[in-house]
Amino acid sequence: MARTTISRRDLTEHDVQIDIIFCGICHSDLHTVRNEWKEFMPTVYPCVPGHEIAGRVTKVGSAVTQYKVGDIAAVGCLVDSDHTCEHCREGLEQFCPNGIYTYNSPDKHQGGVTFGGYSESIVVDERFVLRVPSNLDLAAAAPLLCAGITTYSPLRRAGVTKGKKVGVVGLGGLGHMGVKLADALGAHVVVFSTSPDKKEDALRLGADEVVISRNADEMAKHAGSFDFILDTVSAQHDINAYLNLLARDGKLTLVGAPPEPLGVAAFALIMGNRSLSGSSIGGIRETQEMLDFCGEHNITSDVEVIPIQKVNEAYERLLKSEVKYRFTIDMASLKSE
Ligand SMILES: [Zn+2]
Ligand SMILES: [Zn+2]
Repeated sequence: MARTTISRRDLTEHDVQIDIIFCGICHSDLHTVRNEWKEFMPTVYPCVPGHEIAGRVTKVGSAVTQYKVGDIAAVGCLVDSDHTCEHCREGLEQFCPNGIYTYNSPDKHQGGVTFGGYSESIVVDERFVLRVPSNLDLAAAAPLLCAGITTYSPLRRAGVTKGKKVGVVGLGGLGHMGVKLADALGAHVVVFSTSPDKKEDALRLGADEVVISRNADEMAKHAGSFDFILDTVSAQHDINAYLNLLARDGKLTLVGAPPEPLGVAAFALIMGNRSLSGSSIGGIRETQEMLDFCGEHNITSDVEVIPIQKVNEAYERLLKSEVKYRFTIDMASLKSE
């Protein structure tokens, strides 16, 4: 990655202009920058990634009603949709066939593709702008816009509440949010990790138990006991080992995206009416609900704040999982250059 100059559109009457203060680094940014999803989302260069955006409103269009200059505002993975399809009508804009992602999506205003949050400012339709509760630290709140909603939405859909036993597989950017949110929802949270040195951290983040997934005896103790398991692992792994831990009617949801297909043993699902599913971020309404929930429970991401000058280094470290648990770029560093 290197510095370049882009232009933002002039505001339409419904637009909000935001000065970006912080932008989280999501694994999707890295995949896109490296064109690793070229089969279904080829990267158009120059590419400006970033969809965990938090900043301050600097200008509003004449018809904007929800935001005013000076407000703290945020933008997540989506910046537009058609508002008319069946998904939009249900508040599930992430499935809109005409949905526009925050970066690397067709830009109907300026042509080319949309540019994301590794930049000084952004112009977004107010319907896709979100409010960050004022008690949350802004640098640590930015990752809620993707990692937060990606884990909140499936937990809510699964009806996770007090008394439920919830597993979280993997303790990275997504996993650590899953633990905090499941804990705040009142669940008994069990973290599965391959590395014993993550145990202390998992407990600090809100886990009630930590299971080292390589230890077959430890795994066997939990057989048939989970109401819900959130699988955040994006590398190849044995999914059946986790399906077998589900209780009757239990559900495992994938939010990590291993590049190769996972081998699923039919009997692991059949025995116990278990389900395997996936989940994609969340709609705008639910994203706001998640932010409000995080405000109420004082939940943010654990972040390491970096200047933009360290972004390439941060990507190398992300590949080695050497971050606890999310990088956030301090965008003032871009202006200081
Ligand atoms: Zn993301
Ligand atoms: Zn739609």
